[in-house]
Amino acid sequence: MTGPASAREDLASLLKWYVDNGLDETIGEEAIDRFAPPPPAAVTAPAPVTAQRPAAPTPIRPATPFPARAPVPLESPQLVEDARELARRCATIADLEAAIRAFEGCAIKRTAKHTVFADGVAGAPVMVVGEAPGADEDRLGKPFVGVSGQLMDRMFDAIGMSRERDLYITNILFWRPPGNRTPTLAEQAICLAFTRRHIELARPKVLVLAGGTAAKAVLDTTEGIMRMRGKWTSVRLDDGSEVPTLPTFHPAYLLRTPASKRQSWLDLLALDKKLKELGVR
Ligand code: URA
Repeated sequence: MTGPASAREDLASLLKWYVDNGLDETIGEEAIDRFAPPPPAAVTAPAPVTAQRPAAPTPIRPATPFPARAPVPLESPQLVEDARELARRCATIADLEAAIRAFEGCAIKRTAKHTVFADGVAGAPVMVVGEAPGADEDRLGKPFVGVSGQLMDRMFDAIGMSRERDLYITNILFWRPPGNRTPTLAEQAICLAFTRRHIELARPKVLVLAGGTAAKAVLDTTEGIMRMRGKWTSVRLDDGSEVPTLPTFHPAYLLRTPASKRQSWLDLLALDKKLKELGVR
């Protein structure tokens, strides 16, 4: 086949290849020629010496400097309200777990084998929030226990942290979406009501958001993970507290794109530095 139809198919398969390789957003309109010689340095006259002025105050940045998402039009906004109300009434993590296990407002619960709530140490300094349970997590009832979870364990081990001692791990969704599809915005909104309360009750010193879906949902932004990863921000919770937050790549993405592990290693070093600054390590 030649002509416009074949060109369209070629483009569609190239696009799919990009998405399969984790490239899910455009960074710029123009390609960057990294081999081009640098422009000649501009010769500027030395700045005149003037009386010392006090430095301009640093502008106060909003808690999340990423562009906000538009409100999601939901088929059943009442379900989100119900989830929020239920979560608000939970005074402990055990209450919250019981409320989630009893909650029937999220349809993916019906196709899942287990409710996957959390693993690690409740109250640990670092809380990791991923996207949703996969097949292994659904079978075993614990988050991040499949191959991507094992990679995550090895990465944290490299900075001397483990889920047995230093980490509390959960997802924005408590049930496996059929076929591991990306959770719908409605599913995310319903479960996020519980996850936000989960963060309030666990009171981590630092939150790590693993992957674009979790980062976008928790930070309520349209920004892609390529731009967000490695940039500290903070999440403001309904009780008024703020948690320093680091978006980073999802370990499943790193399994598909090992070259990105270098950036994830920088993120881990940034996490280690932050914990030291906070006096946690
Ligand atoms: N991916 C996630 O985001 N969470 C899990 O628990 C497992 C895989």
